[in-house]
Amino acid sequence: MSPDTKEKIVCIDGPSGVGKSTISRRVAASLSFTYLDTGAMYRAVALKLKNAGVDLEDNDSVRKCLDSISLQLLPASKGSDDVGVILDGCDVSAEIRSPEMAMVASAASALPAVREKLTRMQQEIGKKGKIVAEGRDTGTVVFPGAAWKFYLDADPAVRMQRRADQLRSQGKRVDEEELLAMIIKRDHDDKSRTIAPLCKAVDAHVIDTGLLSIDEVSNAMLAIII
Ligand code: C5P
Repeated sequence: MSPDTKEKIVCIDGPSGVGKSTISRRVAASLSFTYLDTGAMYRAVALKLKNAGVDLEDNDSVRKCLDSISLQLLPASKGSDDVGVILDGCDVSAEIRSPEMAMVASAASALPAVREKLTRMQQEIGKKGKIVAEGRDTGTVVFPGAAWKFYLDADPAVRMQRRADQLRSQGKRVDEEELLAMIIKRDHDDKSRTIAPLCKAVDAHVIDTGLLSIDEVSNAMLAIII
């Protein structure tokens, strides 16, 4: 690990279904860093706005609703890749993980009030360093000075198949065509929004995870970091 590293932060960005969560957790465990799942934060905020019936067009109402938010991330439970989330005292870990909530999160994540709030919270969490941050803009906006940045990508069909397998393993029914359409729409919305769009940081290492195993990707990343 380079001794002149300003901030011991690893950023792992990319679209959904590239294996970011599993890989980020592994890399964090190997380095004894904390894993920061920023997507879980966007999902939780979106749930709060949805439940409160806030008009997403109304930036002031969105801001007001988020003023009092309490958000706590818990380590993933055994056998799961997903971190737990406590939103305003309630465990919403399962509720935020549906494909539908992913779409709501994508819509909410385009709002300035949401991005400002969560970017600040994430930067606060990252202050002490030693974190692996996973998301869409962690290398470009949240931690532009991070020591190590990765951008993971893969063909949408491959990502859809992985997500379908994951949902089926949880006993859920999957319509593959619908899932692929959702992935393509979410990619498009995340890449084309005005604030903090999903894009590769200029200094990020790009890895196509389509033909690689989770181990191969994690090891390639660790070889760069250590
Ligand atoms: O990573 P995950 O699929 O849980 O993220 C859900 C949604 O949250 C993404 O589609 C994206 O719109 C939003 N997000 C974001 N910036 C991040 C992380 C997630 O805009 N850093």
